Amino acid sequence: MSPRKSPPTDPTSPPADQAQETLLAMEAALRQKIGEAPEGSEEKRHLQELLSLLSGQKTPEASKVLTPSFASILEEMGVPMIRSSRRLDFGAMERAMKDRMLEETARTLESRLNEEITRHPAPFLCPACGRPLQSKGMKSKTFMTSFGEVTLRRRYGFCRSCRKGCFPDDGRLGLDATGFSPEVQYLAGLFGAETDFLEASTLLFCAARIRLPEKQIERLAKSLGELIDQDEREHVDLEPHRLPQGPLYIGMDGTGVPMQSRETAGRKGKQKDGSSKTREAKMIDIWEANTQNEQGIPIRDPGSVSYSAAIESASCPDVGRELSDFARRVEREATRRGAAQARQIVVIGDGAAWIWKTAEYLFPGALCIVDRFHAKQHLSELSHALFGDSPKAEEWRHCRYEELDEGRMDDLLKEIGIYASRFPEAEQCRTYFQNNRERMRDPEFRARGLCTSSGVVEAGCKSIVGGRLKKSGMHWSVSGANAILALRCTIKSGRYESFWERKASQWAA
Ligand SMILES: [Zn+2]
Repeated sequence: MSPRKSPPTDPTSPPADQAQETLLAMEAALRQKIGEAPEGSEEKRHLQELLSLLSGQKTPEASKVLTPSFASILEEMGVPMIRSSRRLDFGAMERAMKDRMLEETARTLESRLNEEITRHPAPFLCPACGRPLQSKGMKSKTFMTSFGEVTLRRRYGFCRSCRKGCFPDDGRLGLDATGFSPEVQYLAGLFGAETDFLEASTLLFCAARIRLPEKQIERLAKSLGELIDQDEREHVDLEPHRLPQGPLYIGMDGTGVPMQSRETAGRKGKQKDGSSKTREAKMIDIWEANTQNEQGIPIRDPGSVSYSAAIESASCPDVGRELSDFARRVEREATRRGAAQARQIVVIGDGAAWIWKTAEYLFPGALCIVDRFHAKQHLSELSHALFGDSPKAEEWRHCRYEELDEGRMDDLLKEIGIYASRFPEAEQCRTYFQNNRERMRDPEFRARGLCTSSGVVEAGCKSIVGGRLKKSGMHWSVSGANAILALRCTIKSGRYESFWERKASQWAA
């Protein structure tokens, strides 16, 4: 056993108590939310589960002490644990050892990075104007890494012409004003895009021992999302590994996102007084369907789907006018996916006019198809309006589905028309089917081996937008929602890694 050394602590490095404090703050945040959640609600149960998860993960006291080697950790910890409980608590021991290993690695990382700064200093120039800096000595700053906190001493300089101080070594190390290492930012983005910030905070600690309070995850995920949003507009390169092999499917859809009241002030909506509580997030998803299921129906190729979404205007572009923000988004995504090379473009939508106008404008030769799932939803709602929950409703609906599937649009329109004078719902429904009948030639589309009701569009909107932004109690700002959408779409489209590669190459430059 190696002799016990005192840990190489820097007077400015954070004490273990601070890490413990962060944990207590996370716990307190959970307890507060539990108190606020309605009694017996699913949300309350979920929060309680998170709390118990977090409580089970608390760091044993023993792990605060640093030891120089793995063997000594084992010896030192194993013995008292076995003695105290008369049995080996494998889980607790594993966690405690992991914590210490991380702590040791943080110290190694700290000294390596400090060495790197001394040995290979970056040019002592202002990053903004390139002029030489006036030296102002060294300054320490603590950064959160995935191993814990590390304190780095970097040269501080002052630019006389910009009248600003800066740390010329930070850029090369990938350090920014957030005070979080690239890996911590990467993980905060990944977890923050997947679930609400409080849950992300708990899971990130349980899975990776990274202590980030809810608010910090929120800040990191949002600023990362803003960078990704900007990156998405600037990088519109064709993705060579996803060139279209067959027809390229482009789906568009929209869904309401609950907003903070200041974001909906003065906007018309579905509330009783005519106001609105939501804003529509619009989404495009692009995929291929060159494989077939057992019934010979084309299904989406695994890994072929990519997404892009935002709360932004899709007002239909008139000829010669500027494209809407959403139309530009569609254009960028289609360029990345090689729409220009596709032998056939199929646009699938729910029937909303902005979708067909955008499609007509950007893809004049495309085949437009109404998502059969949506068309049937209209018929189902009408059957309910006409016959309530009676067996007649079911029978009527079933007959209309058949007419739709068989392409008997005249029969379908005639049947709906019978009720049009008495029921406004029937009149609306008739208009919908009349306006879209050219896009409902199902037998013809099927004969051509095309996807007509993939559920991809519907499922995409539900999972990408709804699954993250529409949980109970959430109210978004437009910028916050758009940042999280940008982040989430990039991750779900398999583009998160390439974004980070670009970010890292900027640092290296
Ligand atoms: Zn300058």
